[in-house]
Amino acid sequence: MQRPDRGMVPAEWGRGDIVAFSNRLGHMTATGTLSARRRLAFTRFVRRVLARFHTLGLTGPGQLLEGMPADFSIRPEDVPDEPEDTEAGRDLPEEVLRQLCAHLDELEAMSNIETRVAVELLIDTGRRPDEVLTLGYDCLQQDPDGSFVLVYDNHKAYRLGRRLPIGTETAATIRRQQRRVRERFPRTEPRRLTLLPRPRTNPEGTKPVKDISSTHRAWVNSLPEFLLPVITLDAGEHVTRPVPFDKAKIFPYAYRHCYAQRHADAGVAPYVLKELMDHRLITTTQGYYRVGAERRREAVDRVTALQFDRHGQRVWRTAKSLLDSEHVRRAIGEVATAYGVCREPSNVAAGGHACPLRFRCLGCEHFSTDVSYLPDLEAHLADLLRSRERLMSAFEADDWARTQAMPSEEEIRRVRRLIQRVKSDLDDLTPEERTPIEQAVSLLLRSRTVLLGMPRVGQPLPDVRPPRTAP
Ligand code: SF4
Repeated sequence: MQRPDRGMVPAEWGRGDIVAFSNRLGHMTATGTLSARRRLAFTRFVRRVLARFHTLGLTGPGQLLEGMPADFSIRPEDVPDEPEDTEAGRDLPEEVLRQLCAHLDELEAMSNIETRVAVELLIDTGRRPDEVLTLGYDCLQQDPDGSFVLVYDNHKAYRLGRRLPIGTETAATIRRQQRRVRERFPRTEPRRLTLLPRPRTNPEGTKPVKDISSTHRAWVNSLPEFLLPVITLDAGEHVTRPVPFDKAKIFPYAYRHCYAQRHADAGVAPYVLKELMDHRLITTTQGYYRVGAERRREAVDRVTALQFDRHGQRVWRTAKSLLDSEHVRRAIGEVATAYGVCREPSNVAAGGHACPLRFRCLGCEHFSTDVSYLPDLEAHLADLLRSRERLMSAFEADDWARTQAMPSEEEIRRVRRLIQRVKSDLDDLTPEERTPIEQAVSLLLRSRTVLLGMPRVGQPLPDVRPPRTAP
């Protein structure tokens, strides 16, 4: 349209027009006028139409598009990549996932073992449903260090033979399924077998289960309601009520979001999670960290209601949301210690490496803790008692060293008092108040990283597989 012939002469069309068209669509996607999915669909449509013009002979002499050049066509490189999943925030609450895992026997009873194993692998590996259903019999491999790897094909992006690290329990699930397949199809060559063979019209075990969505839906609908505590405002008061979780949100693809969110919440580095999810763009992966940060913020709000100083006195008595500035101040004005947080400015500035009191936090005015550190406080008390016992026995050491290493009675008394205070405040809560606090604690524990001056090098992947019993 910008040329003098206003684009009305087919013989004048050329590669430059195609490039301008692609750039225009790209610009519209970048500015939010056109979604990535619509851009892809529209480009594919134009490609098909132009190809049809040629195959129908419309570009020949005397035809409607006479003279249209062969390079006026959409080439493979002009077609944008498939947009990636951007549904961060669509994972299932931990409690719902736990209950689903507890009802896997019912799924097996109403369908078959293949469907059960498929759902287990969806939960454990976060692969897309078609990637799990088409797994080969020999999809389980071991790296030289003995760790297990799942080999699968990413059909969506045409990336084949991808390798995903998996845990030993997931590997055991696959091994059990391999044994079942081998017993059922002893004559078929293993390389032709599929891991999840279709139960019928499959004499050689080479055809995989086609689709599990309808069976999965029937199973989910047959389960009891998933009741989750939700805090609502009632006459100006915060009230916690059990509300049924919408079962329509439980579908096979949701397990992929759960997998990504579990790893993001567990502090897996974004570039590692990008690889695990086989995302092309880091921005897709980052969505899960934004959701994680928002949830952590809510969790911090909740446990803040049960925060204590070193004497066991509550720091804030009421559960109220922190102001934005307070969140930022907390984020930059404190560092983690073994069982609480430190706000001593020079230690904070040094990232927790410059404690002037050699980490005697229970005697320090800059220390505070909250209910989420209760397991750490209890572990610390057990540690102190163990050390005292060992040092009082026939442990060979000079007196001065023994005296300095011996935990003081005061320290033990303080830890005990702090634990009692935290517990008694927890006991004062009603069951409705307690459940959201426990959920917040569980989320914070998953995401907490205490460095205490010890740099992390090549951390192993956290084990975030939801627990369940083997079939
Ligand atoms: S003793 Fe604990 S709270 Fe006090 S400065 Fe050292 S690390 Fe911070």
